[in-house]
Amino acid sequence: MKPGVLVKYRDSLPIAPGTPTFTLGEGDTPLVRCDRLAAKVGCGELYLKLEGCNPTGSFKDRGMVVAVAKAVEAGSQGIMCASTGNTSASAAAYAAYCGLTAIIIVPGGRITPGKLAQAVIYGARVVAIDGNFDQALKIVKALTQSHPVTLVNSLNPHRIEGQKTAAFEIIDALGDAPDYLFIPVGNAGNITAYWKGFTEYYQQGRSRGRPRMMGFQAEGAAPIVRGHPVKEPETVASAIRIGNPASWQSATAARDESGGIIDMVSDDEILSAQKLMARESGIFGEPASATPLAGLIKLSGQGMDFSAKKVVCVITGNGLKDTDIALKDAPPFLELPADVEAVERALGWK
Ligand SMILES: *Cc1c(COP(=O)(O)O)cnc(C)c1O
Repeated sequence: MKPGVLVKYRDSLPIAPGTPTFTLGEGDTPLVRCDRLAAKVGCGELYLKLEGCNPTGSFKDRGMVVAVAKAVEAGSQGIMCASTGNTSASAAAYAAYCGLTAIIIVPGGRITPGKLAQAVIYGARVVAIDGNFDQALKIVKALTQSHPVTLVNSLNPHRIEGQKTAAFEIIDALGDAPDYLFIPVGNAGNITAYWKGFTEYYQQGRSRGRPRMMGFQAEGAAPIVRGHPVKEPETVASAIRIGNPASWQSATAARDESGGIIDMVSDDEILSAQKLMARESGIFGEPASATPLAGLIKLSGQGMDFSAKKVVCVITGNGLKDTDIALKDAPPFLELPADVEAVERALGWK
């Protein structure tokens, strides 16, 4: 049995005697070395951190388990979040495990069916608003201030605490910090969490340095890159379709303290990176998860030299959450009679 984030990282988390410690099996995700992909993108050593292997298929579970444990400890009856999809899936699952109500506010018609299916099957109360994520978050902030339900968006500091454990795992797996960490930036909680995790391990003497933090937004939803909120964010990468990130300041702090960057990539770059990752390494991430690889390809193409560097890309969510995108421009399949010779001929073997 996996110990889970609450037990394994008890000493680094806000666990009190009254905090329940339970797990759905989150954390301890694979760090996969991808040599063929590394060669393609001009990188010394390239590792993908597969956060899609968490119980609900995204990194959100690491933070959610802590946020929900603290909500239970505080006697909360329910939890509430705004979501582009993955936060709601995770909140709904952990609420179900603990017997809490989950109330989820989503942008109407903008959640992938896979993610919505998760929230629904776990029994969450789903409210679709005629608005975007940023507007949904505003509503959740207002309602959780006036009602006895706990906000579990990444504004909740317990979320960040849980999510920082992924940085611990990377250092434990590599024996030291990598040179670079590439990560998608949406509401900017995760880049904040990784930087916190890398910094804590460094201060404990568990790594010799800290990575440069390389955050990537989508061009149509790149408020941090552009320096102002984006009113109507638009991108194929729905998990980072956010125009006014809650953790803006801490994301730029992570960038500046680490000597990194926050840049942007186009939807075309994201989709071609998603395909390349799948074909060259057998790893299927949802579009937002391909953003870091798209960023690495972009910088490498601009002449930045990674040939002697150790690079980690965070693959934040499972590709199965958004199959429409993967199938969208797929070539037609061969359609044949159920006949050995017909198939043999079509394959060019006869
Ligand atoms: C939530 C999410 C992101 C963005 O993370 P932030 O903490 O909001 O920056 C990226 N990819 C996936 C798959 C996500 O679920």
